[in-house]
Amino acid sequence: MRKSIIAVAIGAALTVAACGDKEAAQTATEQAAEQTQQTTEQGAAAEFNQSNPFYAESSLPFQAPDFTKIEFAHYEPALLAGIEEHAKEIEAIAANSEPATFENTIVAMEKSGQLLGRVAAVFGNVAGSAGNDEFRALQVKMAPKFAAHSDNINLNADLFARVKTVYENRDQLEGEALRLVEDTYKGFVRAGAELSDDQQARIREINSEMSSVTTEFRNNLMNLVDENMVVVEDKAELAGLTESQIARLASTAESKDMPGKYVITVTNTTRQPILSSLENRELREKVWKASALRGSGNTATDNRPLVKKLAELRAEKAELLGYENWGAYVLERSMASAPEAAQSMLRDLVPAVVSNVKGEMVAIQDVINAEGGEFEVEPWDWAFYAEKVRAEKYAMDSNEVKQYFEFNRVVEDGVFYAMNQLFGISFEKRDDIPTYADDIVVYEVKDVDGESLGLFYGDWFTRDGKRGGAWMSSFVSQSHLMDTKPVILNNMNITKAADGEPTLLSFDEVSTMFHEMGHALHGMFSDVMYPSLAGTSVSRDYVEFPSTFQEDWTLNPKVLANMAKHHETGEQIPQELLDKVMAAKNFNMGYDTLEYIAAALLDLEYHTLTKEAAASIEDVNQFEEGALVRNGVDVDAVPPRYRSNFFAHVFAGGYSAGYYAYMWSEVLAADAFKYVQESGGLTLENGQAFRDAILSKGNSKDPMQQYIDFRGQKPTVDALLERRGLTAPKID
Ligand SMILES: [Zn+2]
Repeated sequence: MRKSIIAVAIGAALTVAACGDKEAAQTATEQAAEQTQQTTEQGAAAEFNQSNPFYAESSLPFQAPDFTKIEFAHYEPALLAGIEEHAKEIEAIAANSEPATFENTIVAMEKSGQLLGRVAAVFGNVAGSAGNDEFRALQVKMAPKFAAHSDNINLNADLFARVKTVYENRDQLEGEALRLVEDTYKGFVRAGAELSDDQQARIREINSEMSSVTTEFRNNLMNLVDENMVVVEDKAELAGLTESQIARLASTAESKDMPGKYVITVTNTTRQPILSSLENRELREKVWKASALRGSGNTATDNRPLVKKLAELRAEKAELLGYENWGAYVLERSMASAPEAAQSMLRDLVPAVVSNVKGEMVAIQDVINAEGGEFEVEPWDWAFYAEKVRAEKYAMDSNEVKQYFEFNRVVEDGVFYAMNQLFGISFEKRDDIPTYADDIVVYEVKDVDGESLGLFYGDWFTRDGKRGGAWMSSFVSQSHLMDTKPVILNNMNITKAADGEPTLLSFDEVSTMFHEMGHALHGMFSDVMYPSLAGTSVSRDYVEFPSTFQEDWTLNPKVLANMAKHHETGEQIPQELLDKVMAAKNFNMGYDTLEYIAAALLDLEYHTLTKEAAASIEDVNQFEEGALVRNGVDVDAVPPRYRSNFFAHVFAGGYSAGYYAYMWSEVLAADAFKYVQESGGLTLENGQAFRDAILSKGNSKDPMQQYIDFRGQKPTVDALLERRGLTAPKID
């Protein structure tokens, strides 16, 4: 059914392989739905005919989009025609008078929606990388149409009846075909297709109620920022901040009609960046409390009833659908497969992480004592004194490091070189392939035997209209059924140097480039029959595994020797500087890891409740405290990264019962990378094994089985602790 098509068009799928723990968990879909009312109709869609470049498959190599012909005006008529065509195809499959078979039902669904897929992929990508208000308005306008289209497919009873017949006869199938049938069938069942009319009606009510509660929660977050802003009258209280930081606070005050004052607004994590610089301890406490207590009844806007309501609604929906709890429902199709597995992985980390936190705490308390401070470190002190420890022990001039990471050298002699050493692949520039912006470079990727694998677009630079962060996406995904090879994009937001100057990258940017290449190769090496199982269409707790795995080549001695040369002198990066980079990278890692784990466990505590247990929560604050204690992560100075009442990922976004996924992927990446190092490191044999078991498989095989095929066993958390420098308690 090409589920991803619709998501791509509204920008949501771009988050599939987007990276990192984004604070803005709100999806494009939700934003679009929110803004729908504000948009006005823009006149009837223009006619859709051969003059529209989406009308037929692109004739360029690999079906690359022909940006010499595509104009903004082409998108809307093509999207509308795509929906219409897809709906007709689905209707024809549902109405087929022949008995349902794998071919005439499941494969037919896979083949449907070609036009929609073609235009949606281009529209979604260009909107995210070079969009403007026109694009946003069209996304908003299309969102309800896509949602309705998607419902019409999921709730088509005739279609489901045929899918079910194929599912019941699945013993004739095996391998990828079997997985596709199970996946398709499950998709319908999970939407409620097997329920009675009454139960379906209740599911629809719950869905609608959940949607309004999450919207209210999200809107409340904005109110909470205003209600919890900290107003400072006297500039002297801001000691420690730079003049430009102070100027920003003054201008915030001005915009809030408080000229002459200074306003500190909280960001959406418990920790507040400003706390690392504020010298005034009372002000630090005020800012921290504004952050940590927000939404918990300290001001007019109270998110506690909404947290409880969502926990109840989710538990009820899960129970209606036959699951023990919401976590069991959500995780059924993940690699973890059950909340208990995710909890157990997180709990395995707790002892080592807490022990490191204690070491970090000792170092911080030492500084406090040495300065004559007669108090024990509180959460509002941590960042401030950690910064002093860092400056003293881990000082590093990041500008000096940058001199060794020139952009072109990192791309060609770093990322491409490493991938060549590991997989034998090469990247050849294709200046003849048109792009949607001038500074994008297109490469044809050649396999070890010289065969073409597909196209790779490097869209590395920041520009107006590009969203923040880094991500991978595609114009065309690989499929033997459709005879398509992958056309993949990587996006980053590197700031280009002035003309004639070299663009120099931070160590983080270098590592991100390797990370995104990891996603790109997951798409590029895909070797599956069915498009909906291709490449990165895997579960959330698996998708960051191949990318995080590739990150660690950044520090491989052979790769460094080839890539990290001074842009003027050509000298190798000194080992001493590299050691500093490493030490700085792992600084405060106990804290970072514990605050994450605490939030991930909290998420799972809410979503392993029965409906009755959720209904009996008396106070969300108490529930949270109990949950932290139960899991042994109740360290006062290290609160969870998000507390319940502003945990947007799980109560306003799509990460409920899924916040653990980042760490799960990293556990796999660290375990696999360590195994590779012990088996010869950067060699073609290792690359081939990784490609065969993992990168070629997409979602065509159970992810844990893929992992075991590669590794010979299930992962443990040991390598992750090493990767984060958490193996021995740090008391120094
Ligand atoms: Zn990623």
